[in-house]
Amino acid sequence: MSTPRPKSPFEFTGGNPCLDFADTVDDRISDHPRELLTDYGRLLQWGEEAGVITARTAERLRHLTSEAPGNALITLRTSIRLRDTIYDIFSAVAQRRAIPSTALAILNKAVRQAARHTQLVNANRRFTREWIEPESNLDSMLWPVSRAAAELLIGEEIGYVRQCASETCSWLFLDKTKNHRRRWCDMKSCGNRDKARRYYQRQKAG
Ligand SMILES: [Zn+2]
Repeated sequence: MSTPRPKSPFEFTGGNPCLDFADTVDDRISDHPRELLTDYGRLLQWGEEAGVITARTAERLRHLTSEAPGNALITLRTSIRLRDTIYDIFSAVAQRRAIPSTALAILNKAVRQAARHTQLVNANRRFTREWIEPESNLDSMLWPVSRAAAELLIGEEIGYVRQCASETCSWLFLDKTKNHRRRWCDMKSCGNRDKARRYYQRQKAG
């Protein structure tokens, strides 16, 4: 019997894998941001929970990197750089600021990498698009993330990218509510915390 997993450190409130990936830092704009991708194993866990790689692929990669921890560390660093790039781009989008050109260059490199690992498969008279050997590429969880970022930037939903209104959070999400007035990544955590804080300030002032 396998040992039960500890509670996941990740949340998936972004509505898109690239935004969920950007949201892997807690309290990003506070004095004490908390990195959630602390090692390569965490990156695999995120990929599996996000559904961008299969459990089988995660297991294979975990095995591969147990023999080459140096490569795992390099991939982790590349992933964090891409994640922060995606964060920079989409927070600029959410705040209607200009997109930094260096950020776009980094994303483009990842988008090209993803395209190189794409192929068409024909089965049962239907075509599907598949990734080429995700189980033998340490960075394969980045391919669907990069593609999702590209498609989000191109598509109609770009207008609904928002940033959490909490003073410390700044997580990104797609506002799919009917009136497009969602303010927090998650009402239960940031929304209530923000309400409590304002209530406390009113009490103190009054
Ligand atoms: Zn938040």
